[in-house]
Amino acid sequence: MNECYLGIDIGSISTKGVIIDNDNNIIASLYSWTEGNPIEAVKKLIKNLKKQLPNNYQIKGIGTTGSARKLIGLMLDANIVKNEITAHSVGTLNFYPDVRTILEIGGQDSKIIIINNGIITDYSMNTLCAAGTGAFLSSQAKRLGIDIEEFGEMAYKSNNPVKIAARCTVFAESDLVHKAQIGYKIDDIVSGLCKSIVLNYLNNVGKGKKIIGPIVFQGGVSKNIGVVKYFKEILNQEIIVDPNSHLMGAIGIAILARKNKIGKVYDLNIKDIKFEINGEECERCSNCCEILKIYKNDELVDAWGSKCGREFK
Ligand code: SF4
Repeated sequence: MNECYLGIDIGSISTKGVIIDNDNNIIASLYSWTEGNPIEAVKKLIKNLKKQLPNNYQIKGIGTTGSARKLIGLMLDANIVKNEITAHSVGTLNFYPDVRTILEIGGQDSKIIIINNGIITDYSMNTLCAAGTGAFLSSQAKRLGIDIEEFGEMAYKSNNPVKIAARCTVFAESDLVHKAQIGYKIDDIVSGLCKSIVLNYLNNVGKGKKIIGPIVFQGGVSKNIGVVKYFKEILNQEIIVDPNSHLMGAIGIAILARKNKIGKVYDLNIKDIKFEINGEECERCSNCCEILKIYKNDELVDAWGSKCGREFK
């Protein structure tokens, strides 16, 4: 039997899973949607990955990362549970050992990781404002009646990006509508939106960070060639986008599961644990996040819904 390792990166928008072998080759992978239900999303993900996995492989390690990592780690009896910064760095360093800067824009948050000699020296995350994330781009594409797949290509081709106020979702939306009404070309509006996402990212998440190459860009938004074009142009540096840039967190946590294996063989059957879920509102700031607290036998095992990464455990 050959050995393999499962890594799951579960965020509020997307759920990513990969299975790797002992040489970190990907044997199975899936990018799917969380749809507000991490437990169901992972059940579906595992069903799909199982179908892709050849019969002569057995799972020798499971790792989880992302915002619901503790809950999913508990359900699958994972041998390792780590945050996204660590998982993304491990995944990227595996393919690009000389990387100095990791730019990441996902479904609902974005981050920057600074690396020196293979060690994380600094990082920052933006989870509070959705402007510039994958979810924001999708909603704007929908508003403009454009398929998200075409969005990047349109932006890439236009050389006259319209200035869009994308500092906050509310301003960006009204500015987009206004620019479309006064007759700007749709390609130039889309291009302007991609450019403003890059500027917004660099002025917020990247503020004060020394961005040195090699630079690797990942997360769902790295698939948008319009956004890649403006990172390249504004930073005046080469931007590397790996073919698996959308799966890098899952790859990283699968590698950590391999490195920390405990000699157990996993059957990939999700444990039928009884969870109790209580909802409450966090009153610490004006975001008033709806927090779902997950209990197992009266013990708080995970909490879901914080926009700032505040820990409730
Ligand atoms: S979890 Fe609490 S502190 Fe954090 S953003 Fe939400 S309301 Fe504010």
